[in-house]
Amino acid sequence: MGTQVSGPRTVEDCDLCIVGAGISGLNFLFSASRYMSKADKVVLVDRNPTFGGMWNETYPYVRLHQPHPMFTVGNFSWSLDKERSHLATREEILRHFAECIDRLRDRVTLVERYGYEYEGHEEVRVDGGVRAEARLRPTASDDHELLIRTPRLVKAVGMRVPKPEPLTLSSRDVVSISPLDLDLLERGAEETPVYVVGGGKTGMDTAHAVLSRFPAREVSLIIGKGTMFWNRNEAFPTGLKRWWAGDMAMPTFLDLALRFNGTNEAEVYEYLKREYTLSLNDRCENFLSGILSEEENAFIAAHAHDVVEDYLVDVVDVAGRPVMKFRSGAERAVEPGTYVVGCTGSLFRDNHPYEPYVSESGTTVSIQSTSSVYLFQSFSGYWLGQLLGAGKLLDVPLYALDNERFFTRDRKAFTFAWMTQLLYNTILIMDVVPARALRDCGLNFDNWYPLYRQLPFLLNVKIHRRSYLEHFRRSLDRVCERAQVQGGPLATHSG
Ligand SMILES: Cc1cc2nc3c(=O)[nH]c(=O)nc-3n(C[C@H](O)[C@H](O)[C@H](O)COP(=O)(O)OP(=O)(O)OC[C@H]3O[C@@H](n4cnc5c(N)ncnc54)[C@H](O)[C@@H]3O)c2cc1C
Repeated sequence: MGTQVSGPRTVEDCDLCIVGAGISGLNFLFSASRYMSKADKVVLVDRNPTFGGMWNETYPYVRLHQPHPMFTVGNFSWSLDKERSHLATREEILRHFAECIDRLRDRVTLVERYGYEYEGHEEVRVDGGVRAEARLRPTASDDHELLIRTPRLVKAVGMRVPKPEPLTLSSRDVVSISPLDLDLLERGAEETPVYVVGGGKTGMDTAHAVLSRFPAREVSLIIGKGTMFWNRNEAFPTGLKRWWAGDMAMPTFLDLALRFNGTNEAEVYEYLKREYTLSLNDRCENFLSGILSEEENAFIAAHAHDVVEDYLVDVVDVAGRPVMKFRSGAERAVEPGTYVVGCTGSLFRDNHPYEPYVSESGTTVSIQSTSSVYLFQSFSGYWLGQLLGAGKLLDVPLYALDNERFFTRDRKAFTFAWMTQLLYNTILIMDVVPARALRDCGLNFDNWYPLYRQLPFLLNVKIHRRSYLEHFRRSLDRVCERAQVQGGPLATHSG
């Protein structure tokens, strides 16, 4: 399988091309490689200079939400010599990815094309089938453009998380910074206040980091409607509790998905809030499936100078003094020099054109949020790779959701739609993939618990498979119709 230079373009043939070297693309490669050999050539492409995706660009004090063993590629275990409960740092995650790639290099002939931007592709008819021809442009060099010809193209661009940026503010008298710039706080006078804007995972991580690193500073949070988090102490209990207590993920999703009927999200939301989450106060409303511990939450609540439940619109200078303006119309004068750290929403902020998760011919797989089969794209990568390997990609009528549109239209309903979808699709997939595929899925949050604790859920689903599928399907159809979002099996699948 060769490479040829044709005019200003190099043409490269391969058996599989994966665009996106983040956790989703690597999980796809893990699964697909189960069905491939060293003779098979895989081209792995990323616009970044290396693999690892968003973890290369996110803020340095980020820590994993879940204990590190459950954030991996396929069944690859971590070599990190830390407690199982350790929440890995950015550097640790990137080191783990490096080890995973090494292991994938042993399975297939892996050609890594970093520093190439995927620009588009066509599916063309060739003898006996269809192949994709993808155009790649070098991002930083004078190298030739690449044309990749492949019978299987995977675009694993994931949630397209943007790099954190400072907020654009009118005032010249405040210092607007991004979470990447916390070191700047070393410089200003110790008593200069800090406002963290955003109450989600980035906001809470940032508040925690600033309060810990700069205890003398007055730190306030601006949290809008506020965010609820899964309670990590309950979701991933440590010590002996793991053997008998805790809120396991799949049973939790099942509990919520069975209560949800496609119309009653307000009621189920109250239940979710009461039973499974924690937050800075009882009024917090947003939920993005982030995870926080009781200790982190209590630390921030105890040490924050103020928690503002409003949305910052701008900071303007009025008579030589910066004034914060809020969406409610409220205003607040702040000290000159105040730091404003922008930690507002990084998920589903754009409106990308719709693209089905698999093309009609089965040649192109697209892992992104407009036609998504799991909220967690790492799961999409893992399971779609398994379906491709098993030759079932076009046979299984997975329920796809346009998460981008859903999230902006109805966040509460979206919460239960993605959980319902996760269960529905997992049941369909389990019907057709080998048992080994389930065992190899290191992403499964319930691997935190001993195997005997995972069995009742599997048995329960086996016994009630049919009625659960009917219930989930009805809820999903109803909620998609109400929210006016695209949802359902693709037209190419029988529904
Ligand atoms: C602050 C933050 C913290 C998070 N913490 C967690 C956590 O603790 N646990 C968890 O499970 N999830 C977490 N997430 C969600 C997280 O985004 C996913 O878990 C996961 O890492 C995303 O991987 P991905 O492969 O889907 O996407 P990415 O990591 O974004 O990878 C996609 C890759 O595709 C490449 N790409 C995109 N377009 C092109 C193109 N046109 N040409 C070439 N290359 C392209 C990008 O360069 C990128 O490398 C977090 C998200 C954020 C924002």
